Amino acid sequence: MTDAVRMSLEEVHAAAKAAMLGQGFAENHASAIANTVTAAERDECRHHGLFRLPFYVNGLRSGQASPDIEPVLTELSPSVIKVDAGYAFSPLALETGDAPLAERAKEFGIAALAVTNALNVAALWPEVERLAVRGLVGFAFVSSSPYVAPAGGMKPLFGTNPMAFAWPRLDNPPMVFDQASSASARGEIQLRLRDGEALPDGWAIDNEGRPTNDPQQALLGAQLPFGGFKGSNIALMVELLAGPLLGDKISFEQAAHDKANTGAPCGGELVIAIDPAKFVAGGDRAAQLRHAETLFSRLLAQDGARLPSGRRYEARRRTTAEGVMVPRSLVASIEAYAAGRQVTERATYEGDHITAGAASA
Ligand code: NDP
Repeated sequence: MTDAVRMSLEEVHAAAKAAMLGQGFAENHASAIANTVTAAERDECRHHGLFRLPFYVNGLRSGQASPDIEPVLTELSPSVIKVDAGYAFSPLALETGDAPLAERAKEFGIAALAVTNALNVAALWPEVERLAVRGLVGFAFVSSSPYVAPAGGMKPLFGTNPMAFAWPRLDNPPMVFDQASSASARGEIQLRLRDGEALPDGWAIDNEGRPTNDPQQALLGAQLPFGGFKGSNIALMVELLAGPLLGDKISFEQAAHDKANTGAPCGGELVIAIDPAKFVAGGDRAAQLRHAETLFSRLLAQDGARLPSGRRYEARRRTTAEGVMVPRSLVASIEAYAAGRQVTERATYEGDHITAGAASA
């Protein structure tokens, strides 16, 4: 990264929090957003790091997101809890539901958290990883704005609809994967647009349904699911689990609700926690996890194979010691946010509008 500034993770957190406070978020929301953005920077998932702050700001300035509403936790059944985010961003609602979800999973063997009415522009691995560090298996599903054409179709219908899965390990951090059901996350396309790079084949079609490698045409056309109809079916499942199952919106309904076209969709997220010890008679979690390790070690014995999350943990070790490099232009925007100013990032993607230009107050 040429014109970049090195920041420690503490500085990243402080800068992100100050930016959110400067834009009018309440302290608890600003902290929760800074937590999730910092975790993404720490693990070198930059598309969900500081790069995302404009999305939070756009959601707030458009009037779509509440800056300060408190999430409301209710029990729908002994093992199903709900956190209504009240049209605020998801990080605080997820933090609110985390401990009650884990407690219920340990009591009943399986429990679910329905987060509703949440604007979600984050990665999902934090919510499942923190379950797995406590010995639980975690799943998370979220739908988004309709950007992805179903297999065989040409028009956007599904969100990029990520799902995440975490498995606890005895002597290692959890094995976690977190992946969109589209061929790429939308943030990857936005970053390539910003950096003037072409897209790999198979990521997108233009608005006439023709394959395209141009990020701008892709954003105006449709993304493609990964793996053809198989990814398309997973996207369909995620729509159902994060929408109708929770009494919340399908991606196309989220778009209708996002009248200001902020690119910060508002809908549901399903998080499921399972206690492995409750799934075998006698409940020997350690034996189950040791058994799982035999699979991991065979996988790792193959040259070229790796576990998902291995890259993140390696990045975490490095950035915890060395900090991260942040583009100077982004640092300037973050400082402007902290001072309460409005900023147009160069080539920031806002909803379906791509803006290019100098930062402005
Ligand atoms: P990637 O394709 O980059 O990675 C998907 C997963 O595969 C990661 O867990 C990654 O682990 C793992 N992986 C990568 N390479 C390998 C390999 N060679 N062997 C084994 N595992 C591997 O992610 P996506 O682009 O699909 O999604 C990026 C993020 O975007 C996700 O965090 C997702 O939650 C988020 N997202 C959020 C949305 C929202 O609406 N909130 C919408 C869509 C996506 P590792 O990290 O270790 O590389």
